[in-house]
Amino acid sequence: MDFRFTPKEEALRKQFDEFYREEMKNAPPEWGTSFEAIYGSDECWEFHKQTARKLGARGWLSRPWPREYGGEDAPLIEQFIFSEVQGYHRGAGVDPLGVSVLAPSLLVSGNEEQKRQHLPPMARGERFWCQCWSEPGSGSDLASLSTRAVRQGDDYIVDGQKIWTTGAHRADWCNLLARTDPSQKRSRGLSFFLLDMKTPGITVCPIRSMEGSHMFNEVFFDNVRIPARNRVAEENQGWIASQMSSNFERSMINVFSFCKREMEELVEFCQETVIGGKSLAHNPFIRHRLAQLAIEVEAGRSFAYSVVWSQIRLGLVAAGPMAAAAKVMATELNQRLSYLGCQIMGLYGQVKESRWALLQGKFEKDYQLCVGLNMGGGTSEVMRNLVCSLGLGLPRSW
Ligand SMILES: Cc1cc2nc3c(=O)[nH]c(=O)nc-3n(C[C@H](O)[C@H](O)[C@H](O)COP(=O)(O)OP(=O)(O)OC[C@H]3O[C@@H](n4cnc5c(N)ncnc54)[C@H](O)[C@@H]3O)c2cc1C
Repeated sequence: MDFRFTPKEEALRKQFDEFYREEMKNAPPEWGTSFEAIYGSDECWEFHKQTARKLGARGWLSRPWPREYGGEDAPLIEQFIFSEVQGYHRGAGVDPLGVSVLAPSLLVSGNEEQKRQHLPPMARGERFWCQCWSEPGSGSDLASLSTRAVRQGDDYIVDGQKIWTTGAHRADWCNLLARTDPSQKRSRGLSFFLLDMKTPGITVCPIRSMEGSHMFNEVFFDNVRIPARNRVAEENQGWIASQMSSNFERSMINVFSFCKREMEELVEFCQETVIGGKSLAHNPFIRHRLAQLAIEVEAGRSFAYSVVWSQIRLGLVAAGPMAAAAKVMATELNQRLSYLGCQIMGLYGQVKESRWALLQGKFEKDYQLCVGLNMGGGTSEVMRNLVCSLGLGLPRSW
């Protein structure tokens, strides 16, 4: 087994790294570590958009896509390297619900007109998306959703409510799952739509997260008209279309590299902080905890490498249980890391905007934010169920 990257891949890594090292110097002071960084303030959102356009001009948002839609047909491993660098720098500019989530589905399930309309603006970093899937009664059990889309001539009329819609207050477009046939059971009666957020009848209401930022929203649809040409795939086939994606890595490498960076900052803090004449780095309890963290970060990183290797060699479906395992591993590691940061900093770690604040209260804020990462995109329990049923061949639990 050879763990080295090729000279071309190393050169790319250097380019990505140099870009983000410079770019993130311009980030607003409140730029954070999760979705709150992108959507939380007007300044952060502007910075995110500017960076997206710079990435778009370099072709880095869409490297694995086919050339005709703004991509470069680049190998998956190059996308992986970009994600690792981006995660390490907490880099702006990658639309998490657009280029990362919708585009792969559209590449497989969209028709030619839809691909030509939406993929190039995403590749240029000019069009931003949100995902209107979850509802108050339908999260893990998404197939039970009840928002209705009723065919009327060349349009569909949509009525219903979505919740936890990340970035709906910023997005230009949303991808929507709605029920087109209530007589069909669960996922079989759902359709998948692309919807301009400026369409009359859409109301976006903020939900504040527990650390105070505005990332999430409720979205209400009242007689919203969607042209039928904006339906992706056949009517009632939306479930399969929305779940399909090709040529995209799902290794969580960006979360592992983000954890690596956070760990480095924590180590630096312990080296520099002197209590009772000795730096925290001398404290045996702290040393052991940092060593454990370093082991987990390195193990996670190696696991992400093996996930992407499996995706390249065996395909996305075969590597599905590994990708689910990587999500559990990465998001739970992130939680342990934030918790350790809070423990080491003690009560001063909770203080912000004061000379007494330790790292501007960053770890305490991260601890509140990281809870959500375990849930978004599928909870740890649901991911473990996938590992059981798809990976271990155990019976499904639901
Ligand atoms: C950071 C973040 C971003 C999000 N962004 C979006 C977004 O942009 N668009 C969107 O549509 N949604 C979004 N969501 C919603 C997210 O998809 C749901 O929160 C998630 O699917 C869980 O659904 P729920 O909150 O309704 O919890 P529930 O499904 O009610 O689950 C409650 C608890 O029960 C457990 N559970 C449920 N079913 C099972 C089972 N079969 N076996 C074992 N345990 C089970 C869950 O793991 C969880 O602990 C986001 C959520 C978060 C936290």
